[in-house]
Amino acid sequence: MNIFRQEFLETLVLRLILALKLGEIIPLANKLKVDIKKTISCYQPLQNKECGQCISCLVNYNALINN
Ligand SMILES: [Zn+2]
Repeated sequence: MNIFRQEFLETLVLRLILALKLGEIIPLANKLKVDIKKTISCYQPLQNKECGQCISCLVNYNALINN
């Protein structure tokens, strides 16, 4: 596959995931009575704690402050 096309698709998928997470994950978690602060979705956890720097941590952080 053309490298630029692949990058474009990866960016598109990432944007879709971010849009889904930001808009829907928190309400869904609330609905299911899940404490999202106890979930870890970090890509590179440090001693089982979120790194606070990867895209997943940033998405979680943004989702929390926007709710
Ligand atoms: Zn992280």
